[in-house]
Amino acid sequence: MLLPRIDTERCTGCGWCVAACPPRVLSLQVVAWRKHALLHDDSGCTGCSKCARCCPFGVISMVPATKSDERQA
Ligand code: SF4
Ligand code: SF4
Repeated sequence: MLLPRIDTERCTGCGWCVAACPPRVLSLQVVAWRKHALLHDDSGCTGCSKCARCCPFGVISMVPATKSDERQA
């Protein structure tokens, strides 16, 4: 099972990945006046990689999910 890891430092908050995610488990969050994408529901993610493929800035990488992986998205 792969889950998206989002490099929030480089994410522009454009929202393309949010729109591309079929189960709608990505959302945009504002932290310190900066908008970025967040995986808000790990369990709902199907690992389809659509978000990673559509990100124009290449800031999403698909990584294997592990139990010890406390995902910060
Ligand atoms: S891998 Fe697929 S289901 Fe998971 S967050 Fe990305 S687009 Fe959504
Ligand atoms: S598509 Fe990429 S840059 Fe745009 S919000 Fe998603 S992760 Fe951030």
